[in-house]
Amino acid sequence: MSNNERKLRIIPLGGMGEIGKNMIAMEYEDEILLIDGGLAFPDADMLGVDLLVPRIDWVVENAHKIKGWVLTHGHEDHIGGLPYMLKLLPKIPMYGAKLTLGFLRGKFEEFKLSESDVDLHEVTTDDRIKISKFFTVDYFRMTHSIPDNSGFIIHTPLGRIVHSGDFKLDYNPADGKTSHLHKLAQAGEEGVLALISDSTNAERPGYTPSEKDVMAAVEEIVARSKGRVIVTTFSSHVHRLQNFIRVAERHDRRVIIEGRSMIKNTSIAQELGYLEVKHPLVSSRDIGELQDDKVLFLCTGSQGQPMAALSRLASGTHSKIQLRPGDTVIMSSNPIPGNEEAVGRVINQLYERNVNVYYPPAYKVHASGHASQEELKLILDLTRPTFFIPWHGEMRHQVNHQKLAASMSNPPKKSIIPENGDIIEVTRDDIKIAGQVEAGVIFIDSVGRRKGEETTEPIIRDRQMLSNEGIVVIVAVMGRQPTVEVISRGVVDKNHELLNEIEKISMDSLKRGMKEKRRNNDIRDDIFYPVRRYLRKATGRSPLIVPTLIEG
Ligand SMILES: [Zn+2]
Ligand SMILES: [Zn+2]
Repeated sequence: MSNNERKLRIIPLGGMGEIGKNMIAMEYEDEILLIDGGLAFPDADMLGVDLLVPRIDWVVENAHKIKGWVLTHGHEDHIGGLPYMLKLLPKIPMYGAKLTLGFLRGKFEEFKLSESDVDLHEVTTDDRIKISKFFTVDYFRMTHSIPDNSGFIIHTPLGRIVHSGDFKLDYNPADGKTSHLHKLAQAGEEGVLALISDSTNAERPGYTPSEKDVMAAVEEIVARSKGRVIVTTFSSHVHRLQNFIRVAERHDRRVIIEGRSMIKNTSIAQELGYLEVKHPLVSSRDIGELQDDKVLFLCTGSQGQPMAALSRLASGTHSKIQLRPGDTVIMSSNPIPGNEEAVGRVINQLYERNVNVYYPPAYKVHASGHASQEELKLILDLTRPTFFIPWHGEMRHQVNHQKLAASMSNPPKKSIIPENGDIIEVTRDDIKIAGQVEAGVIFIDSVGRRKGEETTEPIIRDRQMLSNEGIVVIVAVMGRQPTVEVISRGVVDKNHELLNEIEKISMDSLKRGMKEKRRNNDIRDDIFYPVRRYLRKATGRSPLIVPTLIEG
């Protein structure tokens, strides 16, 4: 078979049609290369679910072919799913930059993983990694909201595949290390078979502001604040945290770190040399002596999470700090879709406390970490790919990115928008979807006793039914004096005549069943179905009905 007839298969397992749980597999003959393994946050209707990770059945089945796993950066939507996946797979050589691996290692304890369970290789954004016979990966640096962020030029027998990674083109990043655009230009010159590129802001015209602009806006607010200043952002946005620490230092404020993930991530970043601080970062336990205008808090809760530091401050339930009129809160973040309500609630509570609140878009205290249209066009023009795959976005973002590509003077020959699980078949002449592998999502409850356990769709459906329709529990006791007790929650008030009616229906079924010596399961059904029919007719609702039979 000549090289021309051979095929490269690109299989996205997450990150298509969504912003979250990014993961891509590339297969050539008997070799597989994996890229990232992220998590996503659930929609509001996925009750009790804390995290979503990609279903990787196909990867597990083909584990013997996997030659390497390359990581773009340390954000949760790229590495957050790895602890769950590592448990299902043999040891695979995994390549990531220092901070990326630092954040990954930071999860080990919680998931009872140790260094001996993994095969981590630290690389830099200047490295070329020969993964296997068919795959060689050139790392290149792209600016984003976290240091050590990279994209890949993946050399395959069919040609170069460029993966942009998450990026914006920031000419003033906090560490001064700008994007390796020359590597993209060089790849473009030598020929790019396909480009996989970040679509998050493909609807947004112009350029995404620099982290420097965010710092300037925050500094202006801090400069005129007389009280305490509280700033919240994602704890993994190390670039931004660095800039806020600089602002605090310039205005003679000590930085106080609040919230578990903020404490953890700042300490990892500091240990690895990614955060420069003049004074040690302290916790709220150590601030007894400091005046209001001498402190700046960096705290968790930018998404309105009820247990996070900012929500506790806003609701007045923080154990050590009470907000006072004149304090300033800066929200350097946008709500992730689904969190708007929770964030809105926190903002209202802050206003109630007469606190000065600053949040985007009214104040330029946040900038996206993702490229807008002009930046996306530059990447398209530098690489001039034969084929184009818009990635890291919902359908609207992908379609707009596709249109943008088509509008270029040198547009790709063909572009496609795949779904998670699609097998994208690439030859030198064509790209097409040629089938599907099993893909989807695993729901994870991370709170409480079920920590880290998988939740199935039937469980979610029961939870939705419970929350939307309520529950009716019928306790039927057999015996010489049969009794029925009906307990309901979320259906009708106590003592409502509806409950008497349910009791009557159940009692009739119970007595008849006993007389006819029917089996217990049948009696339960004889109670369940008439009660369900009655409730639907009387209330139009379908609560969860749980009949139980006790031998009295
Ligand atoms: Zn990212
Ligand atoms: Zn991302």
